[in-house]
Formats: sequence, structure tokens, C-alpha cells
Amino acid sequence: MHLTAAMVKKAAREAGADDVGICKVETLETFPPNPQAPQVPSRTSTKFKSAVVLLVRMAVGEFRAKNKLCIMHVSQMALRRMDRAANRLIRFLERQGYPALQTAAQETAWDLKGGSYGLLSTRHVAVEAGLGNLGLEMNLLHPRFGPRCDVTVVLTDADLEADQRMTETLCIGESCGRCLLACPPDAVLHWNLDKRRCATYAQPLGISGLFRYFREALRAETPQKSWEYLSAPAFYDKWKSLHWQIGAFASCPRCIEVCPVGDDYLPHLADRHRTIEEKTDDKVVKLKLYRDARKHNEPIPGLDPWRLRWIGEEGYKPKKKEKATSREA
Ligand code: SF4
Ligand code: SF4
Repeated sequence: MHLTAAMVKKAAREAGADDVGICKVETLETFPPNPQAPQVPSRTSTKFKSAVVLLVRMAVGEFRAKNKLCIMHVSQMALRRMDRAANRLIRFLERQGYPALQTAAQETAWDLKGGSYGLLSTRHVAVEAGLGNLGLEMNLLHPRFGPRCDVTVVLTDADLEADQRMTETLCIGESCGRCLLACPPDAVLHWNLDKRRCATYAQPLGISGLFRYFREALRAETPQKSWEYLSAPAFYDKWKSLHWQIGAFASCPRCIEVCPVGDDYLPHLADRHRTIEEKTDDKVVKLKLYRDARKHNEPIPGLDPWRLRWIGEEGYKPKKKEKATSREA
């Protein structure tokens, strides 16, 4: 039996994905997000023909939690659900005679570029597969779930029909700027992100913090002092970050929860996020500068012609209701 894109999408949804998109590997090879350090499937293998993107939505309830621990826990659960769905899809594809592989999206390829930079950028693949496009803060925005979603990519030998990219921008842009105003370390730039600032704030228990802590413990004046380091509650938090990735990943929800894009925002999140407590005069001035730059057609590095592909080549167009719901399962 000939394997079609519709059959693969049905299998992905049954496996637990909330939305699915497909693009050709050839497209990903031709349009890497950064041609200087290309994140392309051939870094993993030259055998694959299609990329299937599985999207899992975040539970809106997590954004009502006062405690970050709950947010981090629910985020990890969403990632596990996503990985489980990808695994099931891989087994389905293999049963049909097509080997498949889930990309190591959370891994860092140190030989490509400094900082966290993987073999593939799943959000860029998701845009190529028609699932949405990138917002001012460079999160993937989906028509129904806004930035409140996670994606993973399964590469397969199957030659599947690709989805069309969305060319209209979902992000409202500088006239909104809520993600910029809400970002605690002020890491959101003009369609760009200061990744170091974001990571330092959003990953308090990341690997560099862990190294620092161990160094302090090893350099302590006495064995007793070293033991005090290793038996302190702070060490327990670090152990959890290694074991569950709690605190080591995605512990800041602010740009995600305040974004008005997505059908889940008005009914479940708008009331709670009407006021942005992190808003400062400096951020308001910065956003105005960005707005003016756009108004006066000044060059904006984040919107250079190559990058527009993932942001939306037709600019902002108000979302049509039927468009937002057309992908429903
Ligand atoms: S995750 Fe937090 S720190 Fe990072 S850009 Fe979003 S709001 Fe800012
Ligand atoms: S909060 Fe506003 S500016 Fe930021 S990504 Fe969402 S729509 Fe765009």
C-alpha cells in the first residue's frame, strides 16, 4: 500500500500529537536558518526524504500556577508526551517499511556554534511544515496555541507530500510587544533574542551553575564544609535538574503566557495577564524605538530578507477564524 501524508498525519495524531506538518528534507537543506552554521538533516543522515513535525500543546493550567516548580514539571511532562508520540510514529513508519528517526532536538552540537545550538532547529522545521511562524521573541507561534506548544521532528525515508508554509505573520509585532515588556531579564530584541540573557534567567540550574556549585564544594576549606555543600537543599535542586531537567530548562514562562496569539489566550489567560508587572520605562522606550524603526522603514536585522521566510513574507494580517481552526483534528 502506498504511504500517503494523510496516513502519516493520522498516525501521528493517534500517537498523541495535537498537530502535524510535513516538509521535504530537500527544502531544509536549501534553506537553513543560519547558512553560516547550517542546521540541516544531512548532519544526521543523507538517507531521509521527509521531515514530519509533531506538535504538542502546553496545558493552559500551568500558567495559573504561582509556583515555578509546577510550571517546570508540566513542561517536562509535555516534552515526554511529545517524545512518546514521536516514538510511536517511528514504529508506525517502520511497520510500513520506512526507517525513521527522531532528531536530537534538545542536544547541543558544539562543533557548529557556541551556546545551545542543535543539529536541527525544530521551530524552523515547523515553519517549513506549515505549522506557524516565529514571533518577535523568536518562539514558534501556532494559530490555535500561540507559543504554548512544543515540537519535535521525525525524519523518514518515506517521500511524503509537503504542507505549504504560512506566509502571513501570526505575531502582531511592535504594536503588541507584550513578550518584550514581560521578559524579566529584558532579553527580547527586534525579532531576535539575546540567548545568553534568556538562558541565564530561564535555566537557573543549567550546567554552568552546576559546575560552579561543584567547584565551590571541592574548594571548601574542610571536608565538613564540602559535605555541607553537598547536603544542602540547593544541591537537591541541582540533582533534580540533572535527573528531571527541572530548573535546567524552560523555567521561565513569561513570554509564552502573555502572548495573545492562539485561541486559548482569550478564554483562559487574558484575565490573568492583563497587567504586565515586569514592564519598565526602559522597555517601553525600547519598544517605541522598534516601532519607529519599522514605521520609517529602517533596516531591522531580525527582518532581513532571508529570515522573513520564517517570520512571514506577507507581514501581519489579522487572523481569519476559519484559518485558525482549519487544522483541527
Ligand atoms: S523565556 Fe523568559 S527570559 Fe527567555 S525570552 Fe522568554 S520571558 Fe525572557
Ligand atoms: S506577545 Fe505580541 S509581539 Fe510578542 S510574539 Fe506574541 S504577538 Fe508577537
